[in-house]
Amino acid sequence: MLHIGCHLSSSKGFEAMGKTALSIGADTFQFFTRNPRGSRAKEIDPQDAQRLRELLAEHGFAPVIAHAPYTLNPASADPKTREFALQTLADDLERMEYLPGNLYNFHPGSHVGQGEEAGIRLIIQTLNEILTPGLHTTVLLETMAGKGSEIGRSFDELKRILDGVKLNGQTGVCLDTCHVHDAGYSLAVLDGTLNEFDKQIGLQHLKAVHLNDSLNPRGAHKDRHAPIGAGEIGTDTFACIINHPALKQLPFCLETPNDLAGYAREIKLLRQLYRE
Ligand code: FE
Ligand code: FE
Ligand code: ZN
Repeated sequence: MLHIGCHLSSSKGFEAMGKTALSIGADTFQFFTRNPRGSRAKEIDPQDAQRLRELLAEHGFAPVIAHAPYTLNPASADPKTREFALQTLADDLERMEYLPGNLYNFHPGSHVGQGEEAGIRLIIQTLNEILTPGLHTTVLLETMAGKGSEIGRSFDELKRILDGVKLNGQTGVCLDTCHVHDAGYSLAVLDGTLNEFDKQIGLQHLKAVHLNDSLNPRGAHKDRHAPIGAGEIGTDTFACIINHPALKQLPFCLETPNDLAGYAREIKLLRQLYRE
């Protein structure tokens, strides 16, 4: 069974997202925990969260993905910026306890000139502060395109972060197809790239996939998403990705430029390409 969904707006609450997902043939989805620019989060309605939990269970959803604001930078040289990232991530994880058993994805950060070594150390510090033994959420580092001084452009950098985390049973990786393509990995030679992932990080740590085509050639370090089949990765490669034995059980989430009808079409297309 292919588990697939897309990024949804959280403005109408939790249960509304579940219903929207059902209406477009999805059985997972992603949402921002708060305004993606990182403002204060809306108060959680525990009843609304409970109704979503029931909907997810009733319809056999795969884990859903909460996405941290992408402006957070736990790798910043500025202590105030780091503190803000830490507080926001910790607050999000506390809120995720209303939806236990799901995934929380964040962009590792940018070292902005201090060098990747220093950046990686700061990200590890942050993770070791926010992860506590009682959490019911798996925290995912997203593979990044390597725009500017982004950390997480290589499997090696992600591995070095994960190695430094004490509670590493609570962490994992979300592979974004546009980002790894832009970072220089070949998805057309999928086995080679997944072997590399397995060697560096271990495929058992891969917990979710963002399905996005890329507007730019491999290695461009740009991070511009395209609809499935409308970019440099191409529909055939996406068919291989969703059917690969190492990936086919994972939740796949579209972050392509689309309205709901467009997402419904992409979900339908990918379901047609999936072999049981
Ligand atoms: Fe992301
Ligand atoms: Fe992504
Ligand atoms: Zn992206």
